[in-house]
Amino acid sequence: MLAVSMTLPGIALPAGDEFNLPSLGDTSSSIMSRQQEYQLGRTWLTMLRGAVPTLDDPQLKSFVEDLTRGLAETSQLSDRRLAFVLIDSPQLNAFAAPGGVVGVNGGLFLHARSEAEFASVLAHELAHLSQRHFARGLEQQQRMQVPFMTAMLASIVLAAAGGGDAGFAALATTQAAAIQEQRRFSRQNEQEADRIGILNLEKAGYDPRAMPDMFERLAQLSRYDTTPPEFLLTHPVSQSRMADTRNRAEQMAGSGRTDSLNFQMMRARVQLKYEQSPGLSAKRFRALLDDNGGEHAAARYGLALALSRGGEHGEATSTLAPLLEATPDDLTVNLAQIEIDTNAGRLAQALERNRRLQQRYPDNFPLAFSEADLLMKQQQYAEAERAINRLANQRESDPDVWYLAAEIRGLAGNILGVHLARAEYFKQTGDLQQAGQQLDLALQRAGGNFVVSSRIKEQQNELQRQRELIESL
Ligand SMILES: [Zn+2]
Repeated sequence: MLAVSMTLPGIALPAGDEFNLPSLGDTSSSIMSRQQEYQLGRTWLTMLRGAVPTLDDPQLKSFVEDLTRGLAETSQLSDRRLAFVLIDSPQLNAFAAPGGVVGVNGGLFLHARSEAEFASVLAHELAHLSQRHFARGLEQQQRMQVPFMTAMLASIVLAAAGGGDAGFAALATTQAAAIQEQRRFSRQNEQEADRIGILNLEKAGYDPRAMPDMFERLAQLSRYDTTPPEFLLTHPVSQSRMADTRNRAEQMAGSGRTDSLNFQMMRARVQLKYEQSPGLSAKRFRALLDDNGGEHAAARYGLALALSRGGEHGEATSTLAPLLEATPDDLTVNLAQIEIDTNAGRLAQALERNRRLQQRYPDNFPLAFSEADLLMKQQQYAEAERAINRLANQRESDPDVWYLAAEIRGLAGNILGVHLARAEYFKQTGDLQQAGQQLDLALQRAGGNFVVSSRIKEQQNELQRQRELIESL
């Protein structure tokens, strides 16, 4: 939420003494206050969401959020208000940005072989946040911080002005500029993020050796790939970097977690998404399952989903059955059965299972989202609306929730509600113009209802402040 209009003195003009702004408590704050950094980062996130395709799978979102929040608990991060975005790309990448923004590409699931390897990348990214590598105004780092922030500001302005393709192009340019700057200046930051990240990885209960393992995997990628993924451009894996983290991990002699079945099942979901067709995925999962004498839970899970998405409902059910029998209360396995039942048109059965699970896992996001969706599909619109409204209260900055809310409210005939949900959706995806139009329509609909009208006017004012903020950049 952008509560007040603000200016960012000096940032757009990276020259000389203009950076000697009053310090707000510590030396790190001399360029930009923490609050400014937070607001800037969150605004940038909404623009990013509008400019790149994102993954809306509630289970993948929930997995990344829970894992990262777990890592944050044992990290040096003082402000733990995190916001997440999953980018729909099979390329390996993860990033952290000011304002506690954590981004993960679908490709990270494909390239990390274990939960600990996946976590090692996020621990590294959280260390960039906790060390405030973006805004730290220490003398020797000034030169490197400013271009990134300037590039970020420029992308916000351009995305706001252009929207659509122009915004996307601006963002791509921004990233390229930021990457160049990082390559030139950030070796020190990278080393620090490795060192702090690996300590946190162990503290959070993971085997620290996962970090050098992941780096070796990255090094292999850069050896065989002519176009290395973005992450490698900003994180070149040198021999010394691998040796450093390997030594550190060995000295820790930790014996933490390496993997989980849940991670492997999430990984199977992502593989299924990026493989050409459910049929080809089914073939691959079946081969993996056969190679392991039928004892490979993640392959079984992936096969069941691939069959279901390919329309083989009976075989999907019988494939998942042994998993469901072995772990009758497992959330992920049950959600797979819910998906199979839904695809087969067994909506009542799916809803019944969903509600049974909600007693065991109250306030679980993927379950709540699935319940609203199932109620909508069963044309129980009033109940679906109650379910999605509860969820929107819990996840007010999640555009996917507002998207479904708009759809459900439309079917329920709540036109005022549709406009309000669309306004939120556009706000969260950086399209302030359309958000404003939806609020205008909502205000017309509200008619003489004073309470509703004044609430909408409040939202219009907030939107106006956000516009002024962007214009002031
Ligand atoms: Zn890094």
